[in-house]
Amino acid sequence: MALPRVNVKEILRILADLYPDAKCALDHTSAFELLVATILSAQCTDTRVNQITPRLFAKYPSAEALAAAEVRKLESVIGECGLFRMKAKHLIGTAQRLLAVHQGQVPSTREELMALPGVGRKTANVVLSNAFGVAAIAVDTHVQRVSNRLGLAMSDDVSETERQLMARVPEALWSAAHHWLIHHGRQVCHARSPKCDECPLAPHCRYVKERTKAVRQRA
Ligand code: SF4
Repeated sequence: MALPRVNVKEILRILADLYPDAKCALDHTSAFELLVATILSAQCTDTRVNQITPRLFAKYPSAEALAAAEVRKLESVIGECGLFRMKAKHLIGTAQRLLAVHQGQVPSTREELMALPGVGRKTANVVLSNAFGVAAIAVDTHVQRVSNRLGLAMSDDVSETERQLMARVPEALWSAAHHWLIHHGRQVCHARSPKCDECPLAPHCRYVKERTKAVRQRA
């Protein structure tokens, strides 16, 4: 299916102006901490993860410490996070694989990252982009919604949305665009009530154009 004709260059320029300092909202000081925080962030807000990780990293500061964690004790540390039982198992499994296969270090390829328990393509892309400077677009719920509303992508499938965004956005802007779209989704283009009336992207937005057309047709 052909993608809608939208002014990609202008949309990216406006987003860059709106969010010049956009960056990963998960607090971290190393690739290991980012990997752990990103695994925790599934079905959990970044704010909640940032409340949990200081005590988590104080108790389990390395892959070695996390690999040796008792699952019940780890669950009690991350218990405020959604799906904490499954995540505790994934974190221990990931740490054990880091030790067994990667000398305790976080690998820097998508394939190696996705072989870790609890790490899907989105998590791998977050780590690649933010810890290793690899150009990548992690499609989370905000990126999926905002890019489809704008017409930068047109798919219900996150992998296809990622592919379409990579085809339309210059590679040098992939990582930045990922952060811009997340920030816009959090601050303006909310899931239930997007603030289109105050959105600088409205003149270029497919969602607004289609809504206007539908209103005209009903009149
Ligand atoms: S105009 Fe509305 S739907 Fe389009 S990006 Fe802005 S807030 Fe989202």
